[in-house]
Amino acid sequence: RSALVWFRRDLRSFDHAALYYALRRFERVHCVFVFDREILDALPDRQDRRVEFIWRSVQELDAALDRLSRQSGGAGGGLCVRHARADEAIPRLARELGVDAVYANRDYEPAARARDRRVAERLAAVGIAFEDFKDQVIFERDEVLTQSGQPYSVFTPYKNAWLKKLDGFYTQSYPVARYAARFAPKAEGERIPDLAALGYEPTNLAGLRLPVGMSGGRKLLDDFAARIGRYRETRDFPAVKGVSYLSPHLRFGTVSIRELAAFAWAEGGAGAETWLSELIWRDFYQMILWHHPRVVDASFKPEYERIVWDDAPELFAAWCEGRTGYPIVDAAMRQLNTTGYMHNRLRMIAASFLTKDLGVDWRRGERYFADRLIDYDLASNNGGWQWAASTGCDAQPYFRIFNPVTQSQRFDREGAFIRRYVPELARVPGKFIHAPAKMGAADQAACGVRIGHDYPAPVVDHAVARGLTLTRFAAARM
Ligand code: FAD
Repeated sequence: RSALVWFRRDLRSFDHAALYYALRRFERVHCVFVFDREILDALPDRQDRRVEFIWRSVQELDAALDRLSRQSGGAGGGLCVRHARADEAIPRLARELGVDAVYANRDYEPAARARDRRVAERLAAVGIAFEDFKDQVIFERDEVLTQSGQPYSVFTPYKNAWLKKLDGFYTQSYPVARYAARFAPKAEGERIPDLAALGYEPTNLAGLRLPVGMSGGRKLLDDFAARIGRYRETRDFPAVKGVSYLSPHLRFGTVSIRELAAFAWAEGGAGAETWLSELIWRDFYQMILWHHPRVVDASFKPEYERIVWDDAPELFAAWCEGRTGYPIVDAAMRQLNTTGYMHNRLRMIAASFLTKDLGVDWRRGERYFADRLIDYDLASNNGGWQWAASTGCDAQPYFRIFNPVTQSQRFDREGAFIRRYVPELARVPGKFIHAPAKMGAADQAACGVRIGHDYPAPVVDHAVARGLTLTRFAAARM
């Protein structure tokens, strides 16, 4: 009896639920990854850091699976890689290989759930089973509910219940290596298509400080382990190396959430506790998306569907391109555009600015992030945007509006981050770095920056925008 393990957002050869169960239950196990045309063909750009991240991580995974098999006395293994629609390729390959079952780890996004249903139906029609497993979160779906059996919509009580339920059982690693002799060898001539064959060009990924694959995830985790004790004090400052930078690895499963949660739990102390809390936010938003798939394009709080947003194409373009005249927002957007990453504090500031200062619909900002973040994850991105826009569950109240200048003063005090990403402001003195338009003609001449010429004047007045936003929300709440 044999099975096919379908890798998706779990590109690792260790502590892998579907792989473990397949190896334990079947004599021969094949592995596949599909570059899904349904997803790839819809991406807006032929240079996409995520596609390259996946492509390079898939190569490492292929080699790791082969090594694992040989080390266990097997004949070698590895990944069959396809470039096709997954809902067609998986049933086809399963039939060709004559397997009894297809195993995969569960995905909570509505489109992925629909795809998996189609695959399961097609497989069932030819007598092949489809089974999926919890793998990418610690607690999923209905595992953490309120006392009355309802899903939580407020984070803190969810977190408390989550922590109460956590024990060693849920963070136990799946010992894949134990059964690794059961990997089926790859068919003769199986090759991983190169990036060009997938229709993509290389990006600047190799030049970023983001190592890929399982080895990259391990490297970042080791680096962060030495800093986790200071996480609470440093995590809000984008110019400081305070956070873990593990989000792309969590997104593509090149690290194991069980290993990370067990590590933070065992470490203890304020830093590790705060970091574990962030991992719980990740579970929380996956749970929200599972129970409320409508949030994909609708406000969690229905009354806010009545908000009348501004179209503002020019303001939106200024935000996208990092030329709003608010240095912290511009630095944030340029970090996103040039690296595919944005620090969490800046995501909050940039999202708040788009929705509350420019009055633009959160869905447009969410889409822009979705196209560019390497760690883009529907559940967390949607949750983060709806939090900032005040339309989400347990969101920032609508009347608490970030002031982009005071946020900048608090979290990039010296302007080090601004100067890194907005080099035209590098010579602006510290007292003007957060609001350079306040410089008079003499100060502008002294540092060689002409406002409106070398760097834009603010595209909106924050105090005026704040008033408009309060009115906009009040009207929707009536
Ligand atoms: P760390 O601070 O080291 O945190 C560790 C991990 O915890 C992260 O890798 C992430 O998996 C999880 N995490 C941290 N904060 C959050 C959070 N607020 N919500 C959910 N999970 C969290 N995160 C994504 O992974 N993908 C997204 O597309 C995404 N979009 C966002 C959009 C907005 C508007 C906002 C406000 C936040 C968004 N986040 C998203 C959450 C957060 O900003 C990133 O997870 C974090 O910046 C990643 O950096 P890190 O790995 O160094 O984080």
